[in-house]
Amino acid sequence: MLKGKTALITGGARGIGAAITAALAAQGANVAVIYTGSQEKAEALCAQCAQDHGVQAQAYQCDVADFAAAKAVVAQVKKDFGAVDVLVNNAGITQDGLLAMMKEESFDRVLDVDLKGAFNFIRHCTPLFLRQKGGAIVNITSVSGMIGNPGQANYSAAKAGLIGLTKAVAKELAPKGITCNAVAPGFIATDMTRDLAGQDNALLAAIPLGRMGQPQEVAQAVAFLATAPYITGEVLRVDGGIAM
Ligand code: NDP
Repeated sequence: MLKGKTALITGGARGIGAAITAALAAQGANVAVIYTGSQEKAEALCAQCAQDHGVQAQAYQCDVADFAAAKAVVAQVKKDFGAVDVLVNNAGITQDGLLAMMKEESFDRVLDVDLKGAFNFIRHCTPLFLRQKGGAIVNITSVSGMIGNPGQANYSAAKAGLIGLTKAVAKELAPKGITCNAVAPGFIATDMTRDLAGQDNALLAAIPLGRMGQPQEVAQAVAFLATAPYITGEVLRVDGGIAM
């Protein structure tokens, strides 16, 4: 369904992002994988996607929070692949802490990566989408941005902001045939939640489906929204029911 299309995935080398990269490549998409530190993983995943699915796959280093660097990397991907058809804003960090002790830098950095990072890539891909008269954007938000989470004032604010960004962009670009949706994962087993995995019982009891999710289960939702021409402005929870 994505054969011949190009997907750019931020943070696409590990965790949920790696599953998204693999899922889109499995649907025939060429993949541009953006990483900050995971060069080896990014290159290995690209080689795997090319081998398994015969797609073009290339890794690019970029801090998504850097507006100018994002502009340069989008231009490079356009040069290398000829187009960007699907943008997945997946890169994200947490710097949890109680509000009374949260450092200004922690608030700023999480907003810069999780919210401004998505803006940066949407901003620089949009001119391409407008020229192509189409495109699909999928932003990875979080149930923390929908219901709030103690100890995550910065992260919840960033992820709630990402939902607002998703809806504004969806309305603004809909007349141009460009969709913009969000996926809101709950607790997914990745490096980000490694520390939580030990608190099994309380955590699992709060999840109606009784288990943490897998990155592939989020990737499935992303692949769906990336290929759903009549859905825009939607926030799709992939959370085992925790935020219903
Ligand atoms: P991981 O910590 O496993 O991976 C984070 C990814 O983001 C890595 O690929 C990392 O790149 C990338 N990244 C971080 N900072 C930057 C940056 N400044 N510039 C570019 N890339 C960056 O997290 P997950 O896979 O768990 O999370 C992926 C997304 O899903 C995030 O947006 C997260 O907020 C969201 N999410 C996750 C949930 C979970 O339970 N795991 C729940 C809800 C939402 P690199 O490898 O190069 O460092």
